[in-house]
Amino acid sequence: MKEFFTDKVINTFKPEMEEAYRIESGERIIVHTRDCYSGALTKPTDSYENMDRSGFNTATGPFYVEGAMPGDVLKVQIIDLEVANQGVAVVVPNEGTVGYRVEKKKFNLIPVRNGMVEYGDFTFPADPMIGIIGVATKDEVIPTNIPGDHGANMDTKDIKKGSTVYLPVFQKGGMLALGDVHGKMGDGESSCSGLEIPGKATLQIDVIKNGDLKMPLVETENEFMVIATASTIEDANAKGTEEMVRLFQKISHMPWEDLYMMMGMVMDLRISQVVNPMMTIRTVVPRNLLNGRMLFGNR
Ligand code: CA
Ligand code: CA
Repeated sequence: MKEFFTDKVINTFKPEMEEAYRIESGERIIVHTRDCYSGALTKPTDSYENMDRSGFNTATGPFYVEGAMPGDVLKVQIIDLEVANQGVAVVVPNEGTVGYRVEKKKFNLIPVRNGMVEYGDFTFPADPMIGIIGVATKDEVIPTNIPGDHGANMDTKDIKKGSTVYLPVFQKGGMLALGDVHGKMGDGESSCSGLEIPGKATLQIDVIKNGDLKMPLVETENEFMVIATASTIEDANAKGTEEMVRLFQKISHMPWEDLYMMMGMVMDLRISQVVNPMMTIRTVVPRNLLNGRMLFGNR
């Protein structure tokens, strides 16, 4: 299995990206990722004040996937996801849900031992997830910290070991890149960081021809979820709901109104994150609703 380290990283997703690596469809690879501060906060003596922001939110790659063309979908199975034995969390004035209460920047270095996060008086299980995973955009230049229809900083805690992420391909080769792994993150990422930590992901990557997705979709053991990003939660919810109904229209002959009506009964709205420059939600349906069929066909 080919293994890729953190020497080649990007800070922006855009239409024309220079490939760092080339891989085959069907290949299984190991990808290492920097923590979201590129290792600038790893010792108690490190300073948050003079950090070089160019190392923020990097993503390893991009990977040109042979055969991926605009209109296809990249299927990324997360076979395994390991994290380092120490991460960092921060608070920053005026960032996060109640950042107005934060007077100065603070960071805590946090050990992860035997799968447990040791945080002061509290210990809780680590639950590693990938914060940033995305592909080249259709026509915009977008910093890696801003999520969108191309993926990127979705900060969705279901993007973890055992899940499959489907990303729409907008450019030849797809140009997959990932980073910003968290050892643990809660829905919302309310205080503006999770447990920011270096990661090591084992991924199986396949191209699905003519996949027809408008935005990322995640498949977990029991659920399908559309990941929708917009400038407000309301707009993201509308976008995610529209996409979910559209996907059901492809597997059912029921009228749009009837499928939309069903969403009121079966679909959950969950918040992914509310602290990045755009808001991200997921609209979620149980897999057992589909009687073994796939929501997202052609595979
Ligand atoms: Ca993030
Ligand atoms: Ca992060």
